[in-house]
Amino acid sequence: MNLRAFGKAAAMLFLTISPLATQAQDLLADQAPIDRKMKTVDSVALERIAIERFEKDFSENLYGENWNTMNPFCYASKDIPNTYKIDLRSFAMPVPNKSYAKVTSRFGYRPRFGRMHKGIDLKVYTGDTIYAAFDGKVRIKKYEGKGYGYYLVLRHENGLETIYGHLSKQLVNINQEVKAGQPIGLGGNTGRSFGSHLHFETRIMGHPINPELLFNFAMRDVTNDFYVFNKTASQNDYNRMASAGNAKKTANPAGSQTTGKHWYKVKSGDNLSKIAKKLGVSVNQLCKQNNIKTTTVLKAGRLLKY
Ligand SMILES: [Zn+2]
Repeated sequence: MNLRAFGKAAAMLFLTISPLATQAQDLLADQAPIDRKMKTVDSVALERIAIERFEKDFSENLYGENWNTMNPFCYASKDIPNTYKIDLRSFAMPVPNKSYAKVTSRFGYRPRFGRMHKGIDLKVYTGDTIYAAFDGKVRIKKYEGKGYGYYLVLRHENGLETIYGHLSKQLVNINQEVKAGQPIGLGGNTGRSFGSHLHFETRIMGHPINPELLFNFAMRDVTNDFYVFNKTASQNDYNRMASAGNAKKTANPAGSQTTGKHWYKVKSGDNLSKIAKKLGVSVNQLCKQNNIKTTTVLKAGRLLKY
């Protein structure tokens, strides 16, 4: 379309949405096909803006007046919406772009601790910058010695809340507004943590969503522009994971020698045969279960399944 034609079409568009629309359409009847085309484009754009506004408002309504700066999980399950469309488009990676910044522990039941892991762990070193995943506001800045260590909870306009745990330092304050990608803390190893990493959670009204459903951390990107949360499906998934883990725990009380349910942390000076003897299992069994060879050098601190 040349400039003149565009001008004409734009003028028509203006006329069609003005109170003079009916008269104008009569006058411009010969141009009707172009007019319709422009109107379609325009209404799609307007509709999108309307949806975005609605979602923004709705995220405020979702939490209402509930702004608790002390308790990270101050929500009632009944208040969680049945479905909720989460806009992920302005996502920023919470960890720096370094080769080691990978997912080191996934969302789900963790036999090592006998409970659910309600977020994921991303490898960072103490002092690495941690970034806000979306625009938002700092709701919680606390220390929890037996859990998150130094941690932050941010609430975002898209309805999500994100949690950043085991920090060595918090760089923002309660009620502070932050932008996606803004430094909010430094990575660390505080609280219930074994080795420096970022524990990262995504929740909607306190209900944890597996962050890997929303983000592809290897690609440093979102899995999709939007994620449609479904309360029933998400709660069922969560309960399935937790009860599968609990069933294993009951079937295998402490002291039982059923293999593959216990973890052993390698100490300095250990080797496979020493460990096997100590644990009362065979070297072959250890190798098979841990996908290692008899020649594999075991570093102190490594966890072995047995
Ligand atoms: Zn974690």
